[in-house]
This record gives sequence, structure tokens and C-alpha cells, in this order.
Amino acid sequence: MLRSTSRTIRLAKNVIKPTIIRSSRLNQFRSVAQLAHFKTPPNLTNEPVKNFSFNDTKDWDLLRASITKFTDSDQPLQIPLVINGEKIYKDKTLNQVNPAKHSQVLAEVSQASPKEIQLAIDSTKKAKKEWAQTSWVDRAAIFLKAADLISTKYRYDMLAATMLGQGKNVYQAEIDCVAELADFFRYNVKYAEEMYGVQPISTAPGVWNRVEYRPLEGFVYAVSPFNFTAIAGNLVGAPALLGNTVVWKPSATAALSNYLLLTILEEAGLPKGVINFIPGDPVEVTDIVVNDPEFSALHFTGSTDVFRQLYSKINTNVANGRYKDFPRIVGETGGKNFHLIHSSSSLNHAVLSTLRGAFEYQGQKCSATSRLYVPESLWPEFSENLNNQMSQITIGNCTENLHAFMGPVIHEASFNKVKDAIEEAKADPQLEVIAGGEFDKSTGYFIQPTLVRTDDPNHDFMKREFFGPLLTAYVYPDAEYESIMDSIDSVTKYGLTGSVFARDRKAIQLATDKLRYAAGNYYICDKSTGATVGAQPFGGSRTSGTNDKAGFGSLLSRFVSMRSIKENFYEIADFKYPSNIS
Ligand code: NAD
Repeated sequence: MLRSTSRTIRLAKNVIKPTIIRSSRLNQFRSVAQLAHFKTPPNLTNEPVKNFSFNDTKDWDLLRASITKFTDSDQPLQIPLVINGEKIYKDKTLNQVNPAKHSQVLAEVSQASPKEIQLAIDSTKKAKKEWAQTSWVDRAAIFLKAADLISTKYRYDMLAATMLGQGKNVYQAEIDCVAELADFFRYNVKYAEEMYGVQPISTAPGVWNRVEYRPLEGFVYAVSPFNFTAIAGNLVGAPALLGNTVVWKPSATAALSNYLLLTILEEAGLPKGVINFIPGDPVEVTDIVVNDPEFSALHFTGSTDVFRQLYSKINTNVANGRYKDFPRIVGETGGKNFHLIHSSSSLNHAVLSTLRGAFEYQGQKCSATSRLYVPESLWPEFSENLNNQMSQITIGNCTENLHAFMGPVIHEASFNKVKDAIEEAKADPQLEVIAGGEFDKSTGYFIQPTLVRTDDPNHDFMKREFFGPLLTAYVYPDAEYESIMDSIDSVTKYGLTGSVFARDRKAIQLATDKLRYAAGNYYICDKSTGATVGAQPFGGSRTSGTNDKAGFGSLLSRFVSMRSIKENFYEIADFKYPSNIS
């Protein structure tokens, strides 16, 4: 586990025993598979999100204790590379700091050199055969057990690591590194089970047809973003569940929670070499990994520009004939997500949903609301109400001020990007800063939630992803409700999420029809964020990604290579067909 003198695994001491229900769920999976019948476990539900309300004193106490475990030492935690199950500590490290208090170094993260990157690739190859031959029930059990460890024994440690390292408040951490992560692991088992159960017909006499869902022949490269611990878990977990082995390059600003997750998977029984953890220079790691002839798939989540770069490197190698396979490329990328408010909408609901959509987790969700379209008739009341609500948002270091609604943005580059945009807005005659607009990085990377209004629906602020607490509004004439949709649809290159707020059913129908390709996740009278595994399969198209839908069975099909098998039980006695006999 985390190496740091005696702190090492005091991290695991807030133990809550996994419940009987959870173990019986495991048994259900076992017996189902032993019978070779495929059916969904009846009690599979989304992990309940803890409220952390004022009276939940036990939860708060356990959380505080976990936060202290990560922060009470003078020495930062040492995070190793993990290759073939072996922890490798390097002299060359990169600090992960608390974005809410950047003087606080949380971890010194070992950085892989070319030699270790190659070792990690070799390790995936070495582990592959045995892992691929491990029965799927045993593979599934590891992920089901990890889900239970996350939601019980390590719940508060995961929360603390994600809150400290990634600047989340407790609720945002709960829905990410506990609920969504456990959901990914559990629902992927359900979806894999269903996928394996889809088999071809065998209607001809004496013939048995079947499809074998082989893992990919080579290895998978998973590159994860900073903003969701759960996404990192799915990027590595989905391919591994299906028998693939993985090189994992975590985000430098999520290494703490990501490493803790890896140790949980190990405790759940993940064999050596199945997932190899390689923090390091992203370009260097990528160049070595995608140049290997046995590179079989990229599983990426992050910005569109980075995905393009990876895509292009892979394409060059495809063109050169370097690979054994045509690699699968799965990527979920950026967004410029909209809220379209119709004059018939419930104003207060639309305002509150917009505030949550735009400013929860500091606007650092790929699905965060960043474009707002409000009709002229509602704008005075809407903007006053939104302004008023925004003034009540509390911002702070969420591990000290545990009740803060917003924390910091993730790092200095992100701070500068949003700060520059706000300064640009202040100087641009086509933009007006309506609320917020302040920032301060003296202790942490804090930016006030900021609302900007533009009088140009084609303004660059309606196109660019800022990935911070910056929302741009355009006020449209009520009569232009239909034509504003053309602008919503075409002004950005993205197509991730979007919402329409209306009570008038015709207005909803029209938007649903005209905005068919504007969002891969489309909401009616709800905010553009908050997709739940199994309930709203997640992903967008256009330049928002390959839209393979995380949290749904379709994703899993990208990490298997099917083999059709026909077995014949009869023997022939003559090479001639009846028509050949005169
Ligand atoms: P990012 O693109 O900066 O980094 C993502 C990963 O790519 C990290 O591991 C990073 O180290 C690596 N990386 C960075 N530059 C690289 C390079 N040149 N070559 C190879 N790897 C490189 O993204 P981020 O800041 O971690 O996350 C925010 C972005 O992710 C936003 O654009 C957001 O919209 C997107 N995102 C999308 C989804 C989705 O499901 N669509 C979900 C979460 C985040």
C-alpha cells in the first residue's frame, strides 16, 4: 500500500465490514455462471450516495479521520510505479499538491523512464495469457469485491484522497469515487454477463454455433483525466474485466486517488501485471506505448486536442503497418454543454439546475453547463434570481471547510486559463460580466463562479471549453426559439450534453428533434450533468468523443474480438452433393 513510514496502511483502518448483502451478491454471480445461465442479478442497484447531512456525525468523523491520515505527516506520501505487481520508487518524482492549498504536497509521484515504460508493456504481455484464461467469474469477482471495498472499508479514504487531490467537496467526491466507481465495477459485470450470453443460432441439424468473446490480442493503453476517479477506474477496469491487460497512465493531478484505487484492486485479488500503473511524462509514455506492435486499444478520457494527438499517432502507425491489429480507439473528450430555457419553463427550477450544472465541482465536469440560452421575456427575473443564488455559493478548501459548495480549480494552468478568459470578458465590448469575475491563487486556485452575457450567439465564448466556473449566457428574442436551436447545434464543434427546460410539450418536442446531434446526453427539464451508470449511458459524438457510452454494455464490445466457432457433429460420406449425382 502507500509507502510512507508507519502511515502506510493506517489508511485502511476506518474499517466498515462489507455487508452480508454484498457477499451474497457475489455468490449469486458465482452460481449464475456455474450454471452457465446468464441472468442479471436481481439486487443490482446503484450504490446509494451518502448525504453527509448535518446529523450524520459518524460519517463526518470517519471522513475527518481519513483526511487526517493523508495530511498529518511532515513527509508526503511516496507513490510508486507498479509494474508486474512490483512497486518501483524512483528518484525522479513529480509532486501532487492540494489545489486548495498549493503549498501542501500530498504525494511525491514516481515518474517512469523509458525503461520502465517498456517493462510495463512487457508485463502486460507476460500476464496476458493467464489472465485471459482466468474464468470470467473469477475476473468478475475481483471487480465486485473491489466495488464492495470501495463502498465500505475504503469509502472514507477514497473520499479523502479525491477531495484533497482533486479539490472536490464531499458530495462531489461521494458521487464520483464511491458511487460511480462502484457502479462501474458492478454494472460492467452485468453488461459483460449479458454480452457473453448473446450467442448465434444453431438451427442446422448436427451443428453447434457459438461466439467466443476473446479479449483483444495485444494490450490496452488507458489514459485517464484528473476530474473523475471513477472514470479512471472504468478506463482500466472495463478492459481488464474482459481479460485484457493494461498499461495505465494516470493524470498527474489524480495520482493519489488513482494509486489508492489500484491498491484496492490488488486487495480484491487483481493478479500481477494485469494493470500496470505508469505515472510519467504523458508524451514520452504515449510515444513508447503506441509504438509497440502489440498495442491493441486506446481507452482515453480527456481533452479533445490531446485525443486528436493520440489518434493521429496511432493512425500514422496504422498507415505504416506497424501493428498486428487495427487498434480500437475509444475516447471521451471535451464539451460545450448548453441549457436552453423556453419561456414556458419553471423559472426557479431552471435557475437552480443551471447553477448546479455550471458551478458544481467548479465547472470541471465534461458535462458542465457552459452555454445558457434564455428568452428575453424571462431574462430579467432569471438573471436576478441566478445572481442572487450565486452570491450564496460558498467557496473554500473543502477538506477544512467541509460544507463549502465549491473548491479550487485543479492547477495553475487551469486557473490561468479561466482567469485569462474572465479578463478577456471584462475587456470585450461584446461581453458583460454579470456576476463573479474575481479570482485568487495566493493559497489555492480559487475562482468565483462567473456569469458572462454575450450579445453574439456566435461569440468565441459560446465555442471554447474553459473547463472552469465560467458560464456564458445569450438572451434570445422569444420568437426565435426555433432558430436559436440552429445556432446551438452549429456554433461549437462539440456534441456532449445539453438540456431543454420547458413545460410546453411542443417546445420540448421541437428541441428534441432539432438538437438530435447536438448532445450525446440530452436532458429534458434537468441539468446537463449527473449521468448515472446504467441509467444514462454517457458520451458524446462530434469532437466530444467516439460515443461508445461509458456505463453501458456498448463500451465493453470495443474491448473484445469475437471468434465465431462452428462445430459439426456429423461426418460426410461423399464429396458430391445430390445435384452432382446423375
Ligand atoms: P487532458 O487532456 O489534459 O489530460 C487527460 C490525460 O491525457 C492525462 O492523463 C494527461 O496526462 C494525458 N495527456 C496530456 N497531454 C498529453 C499528450 N500530449 N499526449 C499524451 N497524453 C497526454 O485532460 P484533463 O485536464 O485531465 O481533463 C479535462 C478534459 O477531459 C476536459 O476537456 C473534459 O471535457 C474532458 N473529459 C471528458 C469526459 C467525457 O466523458 N467526455 C470526462 C471527463 C473529462
